[in-house]
Amino acid sequence: MESKLPDVGTSIFTKMTGLANAHGALNLSQGFPEFDTPTKLKQALAEQTLAGYNQYAPSPGIPALQQEIAALVARRYHQDIDAAAQVTVTAGATEALFVAIQALVREGDEVIVFDPAYDSYRPAVELAGGKTVHIPLNAPDYAIDWTLVSSKVTDKTRAIIINSPHNPSAKTLKQVDLDSLKALLGQHDIYLISDEVYEHITFDGASHLSVLRDPALSERAFVISSFGKTFHCTGWKMGYCVAPPALSSEFRKIHQFVNFSSFTPAQFALAEMLRDAPEHVDELSDFYQQKRDVLVQALAPSRFNILPSEGTYFLLLDYSDISTLDDVTFCQQLVEKSGVAAIPLSVFYENPTQDKIIRLCFAKETDTLIAAAEKLCQL
Ligand code: PMP
Ligand code: GLN
Repeated sequence: MESKLPDVGTSIFTKMTGLANAHGALNLSQGFPEFDTPTKLKQALAEQTLAGYNQYAPSPGIPALQQEIAALVARRYHQDIDAAAQVTVTAGATEALFVAIQALVREGDEVIVFDPAYDSYRPAVELAGGKTVHIPLNAPDYAIDWTLVSSKVTDKTRAIIINSPHNPSAKTLKQVDLDSLKALLGQHDIYLISDEVYEHITFDGASHLSVLRDPALSERAFVISSFGKTFHCTGWKMGYCVAPPALSSEFRKIHQFVNFSSFTPAQFALAEMLRDAPEHVDELSDFYQQKRDVLVQALAPSRFNILPSEGTYFLLLDYSDISTLDDVTFCQQLVEKSGVAAIPLSVFYENPTQDKIIRLCFAKETDTLIAAAEKLCQL
C-alpha cells in the first residue's frame, strides 16, 4: 500500500523508551511522570466507575467537567467562556491537536510551525492535505523572529501553531511575542492553534501567558491542554480544546467521528478533582521547579552546559564540551554506556541542526534525578 505518511517512522519517544527498557537505563527520555497520579484522583476514578458511570459521555464532554474547565480558565486567566459552547473534552491533547488541524486545514493550505516542533503537528497537517512551513528557532534562546514569521505568510497560510511552555526547548512566549502575534493575526485571515499542555508548569514566578487571556487572540484560536501533564496521568489520555463557539462547532463535527466521546468515569473524576482540589494546579509549578533545581544542582559539576528551563518538565543540555558525536548517536551511546536515556533535539527539526543538545525529562523521583546526574557527571 502506498503510504500516506512515507517519511514517518516510529516516534523518538517510543524508540528511546524501548532502548531505556532494553538496557535497564534510567529513563529521562519520554516525557511522563515517574510518580503516580494523586490518590484522590485515582479514588475518584474508581468511585465513578463503581457508581456506574461507564457508558458514552455526551460527545463534547460531561457538563460538570466543561464547567470546571471554564472555572479554571476564569480563575487562572480572568476570562469568562461559555462552557457548553466552547469546551470540548478529548482523548488527550493529541486528539485535540489532530481534530483542530483537520477542522482548519484544506488541500494546499500552509501551516506555520516552529522548530523544534512537537512531532504530531506535521503528520496531522499532511493528512489534511496541507503543508507545514517550518521556522527554525536557535539555541540557546529559541527566540522567535516575528519579522521572519511575517515574511513566511502567504495567501495559502491557514494557521500558525504555537506551543508555550515549549516542548522541547522549555522556553515560554513573552508578552512581546503575543503582541507580535496579535499584530500578525490582525493583518491576515489566519487562525491560531495554541498548544498549552504545560500551562501550569512555569518557573521563577512567571505566569503562563495563555492565549485565553486576550480576546483578540482567542477569538481566532483553538487552545489545547492536557490533564495528563497537570494530574500526572498521561496514560488516561484526557485533554481538551477551548475555542469560540463557531470554531468549536467545526471541531466537534470531526471529534464525533474520531473519538465520539472521551472516557466517562475519568471525566467525572477530573471534574471532582478540579472542584475539590484546586491547590493541585496552583502548586504544580513549585513542585516541578523543585525537581528542576535538584537536577540542575546535581549536574553543576558536570561538563554539560545547562540551558535555562522556564517551564515544562524538560531541561536541555549542551554536550559540545564532551563529545563531537551527533546527538542521535550521542543519545544511543548514553543509554548503552552510561545507562541514561535522553532525547536528541535534532529530531524535532525539519532540517536537523548540528547542535549538540539533548533533552532530559525531570518529572522523576528525586533519587532517579540524582542517580542520573551522577552518571552524567562522569562524562
Ligand atoms: N503537545 C505537547 C507539546 C506535548 O508535549 C504533548 C505530550 N507529550 C502533547 C501535545 C500530547 O498530550 P497528550 O498526552 O495529552 O495527548
Ligand atoms: N510528549 C511526550 C514527550 O515529549 C511524549 C508523548 C508521546 O510519547 N507521544 O516526551
